[in-house]
Amino acid sequence: MKFPSLVLLLFVFLTCQKRETQSFDLVILNASLVEVEEGLIIEGQFVGINQDTIAQIGDMAELKQISDGTKTLDAKGNFVMPGLWDMHVHFRGGEQLAQENKDLLQMFLQFGVTTVRDAGGDLNTQVLDWKNKIIEGKMQGPQIFTSGPKLDGQGPAWPGSLNVMDSISAVKALDSLEILGVDYVKTYDGDLSSSAFYSIISEAQTRGLKVTGHMPLSADFEKAIALGLDGTEHLYYVLKSCAPIADSLSELGMGYNVFGPLLDAYDPAMAQKVFEKMASNNVTVTPTFYISKTLSELLSTDHSQDSLLENIGPGIIATYQGRIERAKKSQSQGNNRYTKMNAVSKQMLKPMYEAGVPILAGSDAGPFNSYVYPGASLHGELALMVQKGLSPQQALSTSIINGPTFFGLEDIYCSIKQGRKADLIVLLKNPLEQIENTTSIQWVVKNGVVN
Ligand SMILES: [Zn+2]
Repeated sequence: MKFPSLVLLLFVFLTCQKRETQSFDLVILNASLVEVEEGLIIEGQFVGINQDTIAQIGDMAELKQISDGTKTLDAKGNFVMPGLWDMHVHFRGGEQLAQENKDLLQMFLQFGVTTVRDAGGDLNTQVLDWKNKIIEGKMQGPQIFTSGPKLDGQGPAWPGSLNVMDSISAVKALDSLEILGVDYVKTYDGDLSSSAFYSIISEAQTRGLKVTGHMPLSADFEKAIALGLDGTEHLYYVLKSCAPIADSLSELGMGYNVFGPLLDAYDPAMAQKVFEKMASNNVTVTPTFYISKTLSELLSTDHSQDSLLENIGPGIIATYQGRIERAKKSQSQGNNRYTKMNAVSKQMLKPMYEAGVPILAGSDAGPFNSYVYPGASLHGELALMVQKGLSPQQALSTSIINGPTFFGLEDIYCSIKQGRKADLIVLLKNPLEQIENTTSIQWVVKNGVVN
């Protein structure tokens, strides 16, 4: 090739290169991507976002000229991870606390929690309104999935619950939930009979609605699983199936006091069989370790100087008193259920994970649950999972992978790939190295918008 034609070719090549610009609404530069499922960090990447979706990712060297006006965030090598999911929170306390509940939404986002699963309360129309406004971009907050009101028996434990006594009222309650447009069904054991509980599961199953929650102590976990139960909240009900004395104790009507003897009788071999059954039926468990620990230390901890109290409204702070009074009563009766639970749960968590049980990260943050602060408590939950034997990668998967998977959304979230939802957090430190690094939040991106 003659010299002038080579120059011409080079000129054409360079002009073409220059003309090739990429158009994004937002680009995160120099990112170290945290791929939770594989437990990998991929360095030197860019993440191009259009609207609420990841449009392209790639090596920084492959990033062509970005069109003018594109918003950029230079991560400078910091860690970009999918947003966190808190799978057990509450909005409640009646109309008078609606605004204070609404004010909690921003706290979740500040702590990188981009999705919450509301586990039932008495502010259903408000929660559904916030949920829709957040989807439409008219309000800032995490994506919300809600169960609407809890399903309980004739004398429910929480206000706003729907009463289910038999199969007829189960049909009626599920009709109301469907009209409301809830995302799943939450049961509660204030006064729920086991037969009503089974009716709820069967009826929900025919409508394709998922059921999780508390269960009556007299109910049989394996029977509930066979009927189609999708999950169980807190560890108590799994625990009950892991103690050989459970059946004789459940007749005693001791309520939650029954768990002291059950914890003493925990049988790891029996537990292994229960875990295998849960895993093969894809039954989730949300252990809520953080609230358990916080409540067990309620009387020995001074929370008056907690900086996050500033973000909680006075009406919600007033609801914290109930648990404090209960803790005092419980202490005077020598009840150390929470302390025992903390010890036994350490034995349970790793075998449960290794058996393949889908464990969900949930904090139980919300009114009445004293000092379990929205957002912050989910980080506490993840840290406790690591203290109880999971690796940071495994703990993260209970939130980032298992959260979306519960709602069948694993192809839309879970990972930083083209086509996935742009709910991301930028962390200063590597969360796979140390779980506490999830708190080193630099930026939170929700629906493609930097908060
Ligand atoms: Zn709860």
